[in-house]
Amino acid sequence: MSQQTAIQVLKPKFHIEECLAQVRECLERGWTGAGFKTVELEEQWKTYTGHSHACYLNSNTAGLHLAVRLLKRRYGWQDGDEIISTPITFISSNHAILYENLRPCFADVDEYLCLDPEDVERKINARTRAVLFVGYGGRVGRLERILEICRRHGLRLILDAAHMSGTRVKGVFPGTWEGVDVAVYSYQAVKNLPTGDSGMVCFAEGELDTECRREAWLGINKDTYSRSSNSGTYKWKYDVETVGFKYNGNAIMAAIALGQLPYLDEENAYRRTLVKRYDQRLSSNPRVQIIGAPYAEECAYHIYEILVPDREALLARLAKENIYGGVHYRDNTEYAMYAYGQGSCPRAHELSQHLLTLPLHLYLTLEDVDRIAAIVNQAVKEDL
Ligand SMILES: *Cc1c(COP(=O)(O)O)cnc(C)c1O
Repeated sequence: MSQQTAIQVLKPKFHIEECLAQVRECLERGWTGAGFKTVELEEQWKTYTGHSHACYLNSNTAGLHLAVRLLKRRYGWQDGDEIISTPITFISSNHAILYENLRPCFADVDEYLCLDPEDVERKINARTRAVLFVGYGGRVGRLERILEICRRHGLRLILDAAHMSGTRVKGVFPGTWEGVDVAVYSYQAVKNLPTGDSGMVCFAEGELDTECRREAWLGINKDTYSRSSNSGTYKWKYDVETVGFKYNGNAIMAAIALGQLPYLDEENAYRRTLVKRYDQRLSSNPRVQIIGAPYAEECAYHIYEILVPDREALLARLAKENIYGGVHYRDNTEYAMYAYGQGSCPRAHELSQHLLTLPLHLYLTLEDVDRIAAIVNQAVKEDL
């Protein structure tokens, strides 16, 4: 066993003093629920990303659910209609489709582990209503091509941007591109902008943003904050027009996000430095396949993944050195819920047997990366 301290696969770094100062404001003011800091965060997120609308929720999963729900209502989709999605994702992406009695139709992935435009186009049928694109590892993949396909076929596009906080293409956030109906970010505990749990849903259309706020607050047509803050009296009269959910974000989580956001760009730049070093050290090994990224110089890498012949052996070898890798993600069609999709995405299935996530986080040094890469290169040579 190595004497060095354990290296985890993901490890959030918090700017503790800044976060505590933000949280202190909430506690001193006596406002820890929705409003106040959540409003401030929504405003800052819009400025940072260029999104016209941003609604702060308690998770990306909640945001994906509301994205599917509101688009279904807006465009009159029927139960059983299909959304084309990826099998290589965290299950939230696909559960969000099932929550609304729609059906994920799986399309295969490309070399970036994002949806493959050609297979997306092949999977379109009379019941297809939308494409749910996951920016895997922070990458934008071939989203532009997929948007063009959506335009041609009259499909909506939902962007699961859980990994994409900070990813730009030529200075622009892909979630703001023409044709993206909604982008959903995650500020879950280990994401690039970590809180405890929370997320941001950014609709292109203002009306959907308004509906989203109501749906996220049990269907109540006025939020508590605007009921209490605009005048001296607490306006208790509100109407309830739909059965909504309790999905709103709170001021404590928003305070942490506000403490972290000023550092996001420089932290993403450091992630890119680490990724580049991994790539340099591993690219000469013919048995290790690295995953590239289009517009790599602006990618907010969330995870660093490679493809190796024997994943289990390498994970075990790393663990012996007190280094912990992971797997993101299992082919979702291996889960009972999605078994109906088995065999429909051969490339995704094959790749997901060999996919391994190496440590990538802000506590990692270039020397750590060199050491990890050396162990990988040695281990993969030995398993020949
Ligand atoms: C983390 C993650 C989610 C879920 O985000 P939460 O904020 O935890 O709900 C969804 N999709 C992907 C790809 C993720 O990595």
